[in-house]
Amino acid sequence: MQRSIEQLQARFDLLVLGGGITGAGVALDAALRGLRVALIDKGDFGGGTSSVSSKLVHGGLRYLEQAQFRLVYEALHERGRLLASAPHLVHPLPFVIPFYTGAAVPGWKWRLGLCLYDALAGACNIRRSSRLSSHGVVQQAPILRSQGLSGGAKYFDAQMDDARLCLAVIKTAAREGACVANYVEAVAFEKTAGIISGVRAINRVRGSELRIDARQVVNATGPWVDAVCRLAGDDSGPHLRPTKGAHILLPGCGLTAALLLLHPRDRRVFFVMPWPRPGEERAKTLIGTTDTDYDGSPDSLAPSGEDVAYLLEGYNHFAKEPFSASDVLGSFAGLRPLIRDRPGEPSARSREFRIFNSPTGLLSVAGGKYTTFRSMAETITDRIVERLGRRLPCKTRMFPLDGAPLLPWTKFVSAAIASLVTRHDLSESAARHLVYRYGSHGDEVAAYLERQPALAAQVVEGEPDLKVEFAYQQDHEMAILPADYLLRRTRLGLVRPQLLDSFAMSIEPTA
Ligand SMILES: Cc1cc2nc3c(=O)[nH]c(=O)nc-3n(C[C@H](O)[C@H](O)[C@H](O)COP(=O)(O)OP(=O)(O)OC[C@H]3O[C@@H](n4cnc5c(N)ncnc54)[C@H](O)[C@@H]3O)c2cc1C
Repeated sequence: MQRSIEQLQARFDLLVLGGGITGAGVALDAALRGLRVALIDKGDFGGGTSSVSSKLVHGGLRYLEQAQFRLVYEALHERGRLLASAPHLVHPLPFVIPFYTGAAVPGWKWRLGLCLYDALAGACNIRRSSRLSSHGVVQQAPILRSQGLSGGAKYFDAQMDDARLCLAVIKTAAREGACVANYVEAVAFEKTAGIISGVRAINRVRGSELRIDARQVVNATGPWVDAVCRLAGDDSGPHLRPTKGAHILLPGCGLTAALLLLHPRDRRVFFVMPWPRPGEERAKTLIGTTDTDYDGSPDSLAPSGEDVAYLLEGYNHFAKEPFSASDVLGSFAGLRPLIRDRPGEPSARSREFRIFNSPTGLLSVAGGKYTTFRSMAETITDRIVERLGRRLPCKTRMFPLDGAPLLPWTKFVSAAIASLVTRHDLSESAARHLVYRYGSHGDEVAAYLERQPALAAQVVEGEPDLKVEFAYQQDHEMAILPADYLLRRTRLGLVRPQLLDSFAMSIEPTA
């Protein structure tokens, strides 16, 4: 995937503003249908909400309480598709729900919800949920306190590397002909007879201006949707009521399953998860999330001390051995771009999405979940195709994403690891790391070692990321700034935030 500003200065059928998962999904769907597509992001791909989610590809068990059966059904089926189309980046994750006496939600209610969850997943289910005795809960999650424990339940959802999945969708779109660029910001709209015909944009890497013409422009800028609508002269909003969600990362505590818990302060659901995968040697503990109204700028978002304290309080209420603030390795926060029309508690607001038409022809999309990005993109692209007067069917339903191997994943993993070990003299854990991050491209990453064997070293001791990855990311993944390498191509900066300040990148900006 190459960044070509020259190629952007053309006329497209569709210009997508925003390289988060929503825009990425639309660009891929439209490119596969044969449209000429461009996608730009003012920062890095996935640099907004799509790299700071809870990293779950899930139906959303808690939405059953709000009777959002359609949303849960759709998400469970999209979960099944994503497990098949990006098996290197999305994997099953077992969850344990402990039942404590006197808890806000009784065990029978959870079990009922899980039966429904299994039924809604149907043939896409990963594995049926099951009951656990209190002994079974402690066996699955030894970190939990056992006082008051009356039993529990186990069910399955899936976990992803959100930033890399977003990148994989963009890389697939680029492979299918879309012209994509990060660090290109739409700063004004061009109109012909009052209808948008393109944008003026700034290439943030060089500071140059460019014009991109398109028959249809889609505003998929997540938390920035209202700002972009206003830029286009549409003041009918605001369409969004964003809420902030924060997470903290702590040292690994040996979890082999994630935990679904209710916060003692407000009874909200929060998760304690092994990250990036259960059973991984150096897995960390990811805890999230908060859900609070936010009316500041999406450009200046950070977890607060109160967010960190709230999450630690939740964990410590259930854990035998507490964590303290000094254990926190890193934290991050994102904005849920939720639609505005429902008042009430932030957590109860709908995760459904909506498309808004501006009188200028701009299509804006607000709301949604990461998990359902493909089906959202299908609906949005259907609308675009109709507007363009074309009849082009969707092709993303069973489409493998960049890095997905041809072989079934379980067969591929062992063969690919063995091949990297023998051909490039990598340790088994280094080879495993490359295969799980790059899928079928693991070999291309390791091929850099033939010219520069010293790059086989770890970036920092104790973390699996290898120096060789930076070379590949610079050449093939449009990484430009240190944060692109450290926060989104690798996820090192999440657990070693000090690297972002101190790390002198040996890689010069390329674009
Ligand atoms: C804390 C939290 C946890 C979540 N957890 C989950 C989860 O576990 N599972 C799940 O399914 N969903 C989850 N979600 C929801 C999901 O992450 C979001 O719905 C999704 O990432 C939104 O993607 P997006 O592309 O719409 O927005 P974004 O990812 O924010 O992308 C918008 C992009 O637009 C770009 N942009 C803005 N202005 C311009 C401009 N003028 N020109 C060009 N580009 C521009 C921005 O730089 C940004 O990259 C979570 C959300 C939050 C906040």
